Amino acid sequence: MTQHAQNANPTSDVVVIGGGIIGLACAWSALRDGASVTVIDRDFEGDRTSHGNAGGIAVTESTPIAVNGLFTKALKWLVDPLGPLSLDWKHLPAAWPWFMAFRRTANKERFREISLALASLNNRVYDDIVPMFEDVGAMDSFYRRGALTVYETGEAFAADQHEWAFKRELGVRWHAMSADEIREYEPSLAPVFRHGVFLDDWSHIGDPKRLVTQLRDRVKQLGATFVAGTVQALDLADALAPAAVIGTGERVKGRRMVVATGAWSASLAASIGDRVLLDSERGYNMTLPSHGIGLSREVIFAERKFVATPLDIGLRIGGAAEFAGLEAPPNYQRSEALLALGKRFLPDINDAGAVKWMGHRPATPDSLPVIGSSPRAPSVIYAFGHGHLGLTQSATTGALVADLLAGRTPGIDLEPYSIKRFQN
Ligand SMILES: Cc1cc2nc3c(=O)[nH]c(=O)nc-3n(C[C@H](O)[C@H](O)[C@H](O)COP(=O)(O)OP(=O)(O)OC[C@H]3O[C@@H](n4cnc5c(N)ncnc54)[C@H](O)[C@@H]3O)c2cc1C
Repeated sequence: MTQHAQNANPTSDVVVIGGGIIGLACAWSALRDGASVTVIDRDFEGDRTSHGNAGGIAVTESTPIAVNGLFTKALKWLVDPLGPLSLDWKHLPAAWPWFMAFRRTANKERFREISLALASLNNRVYDDIVPMFEDVGAMDSFYRRGALTVYETGEAFAADQHEWAFKRELGVRWHAMSADEIREYEPSLAPVFRHGVFLDDWSHIGDPKRLVTQLRDRVKQLGATFVAGTVQALDLADALAPAAVIGTGERVKGRRMVVATGAWSASLAASIGDRVLLDSERGYNMTLPSHGIGLSREVIFAERKFVATPLDIGLRIGGAAEFAGLEAPPNYQRSEALLALGKRFLPDINDAGAVKWMGHRPATPDSLPVIGSSPRAPSVIYAFGHGHLGLTQSATTGALVADLLAGRTPGIDLEPYSIKRFQN
């Protein structure tokens, strides 16, 4: 089924660049609308961010990463070489405009605007994702059991109260739990947690890689053409048929083009003159296939900034935010550091056969994805920059992109996600 560029269908209705969870969800939605679709990826079989994430449908995460006071905390974390945040200082000059924009986001008014925009996406996630899971056969490993955020100290719990109250305003359902209730719900946790927050609407899936495979197979079955190749640039010379320029100059043309290349999307946007601030927020994890404990749901460790998810393929302990660009080799000591935390707070886990992984979260400084048409070329639609929430927002992004492709008015205002916000 996979073709080389020169053989590719030259005039699909839609060319989707990127075969991660976002590109495939866009392709799936467009195919269901009756469009002909070509999907291009540089390596359909290889690893990608969408394969190794924590598997959380994290609909409660409707506030941006940048909050007041984070900069002070961040400086403390940076001093710890294996703490939750790290920066390769060689990457700083390239990342500087991103960090400055990140800092500007931490003002009260912008924080509220961004939160409302995140909630608009997150509050409709199940309406979009359940039909996609049903259609691709993913319901058997979709676990709607909530999630539990745990706190070691009363101080940290008290410090987060304002944000929890605001999240409730945004539509997030949660309730506080005592130390005893935490033990009752998740007995394999070390008995050190004094406070908990139960998140009713968070859910998780059994294996993010399996989901990508199921979605890709379904997209193929619905008739998409697959083209293997690295897209170097977009070419708008023919206004009626924009082209994706691959490798040695072959062109894959379509009436509309969807850019869904995750953390690699900025250069494709730049090739038609659209500026975006996008960086790789590199995350790590360790998956323990024979963990031997009975965790029932995803647990978020509030102070230590990591999570543990009981996937079908093992217990995945993950987190970390490393800014080192797209090319630096992984530093798997971060996976080891996460495992050490896991062993401390889930003391009975068995780490035999543990597998390390690193992936590139496509991160914007304001935590909002880029969804919408290029201001320069309405035939080009962006769908990238989902940061920590790409799995969660995949089907919703696909549905919104399909609305744009079909000329329907999307169910939510897309202005907050427009690439125009980076043009100044
Ligand atoms: C440690 C970690 C934990 C996470 N946990 C969660 C979670 O629990 N819940 C959640 O919702 N999200 C989570 N995320 C985030 C989520 O994984 C990402 O937001 C999501 O996978 C991004 O999907 P994508 O399709 O945009 O990118 P990708 O999966 O990176 O796909 C991009 C695709 O584009 C292709 N590509 C790139 N450049 C080109 C080019 N020039 N030409 C052709 N093809 C190209 C790549 O080969 C790739 O297939 C996590 C991320 C990490 C790192």
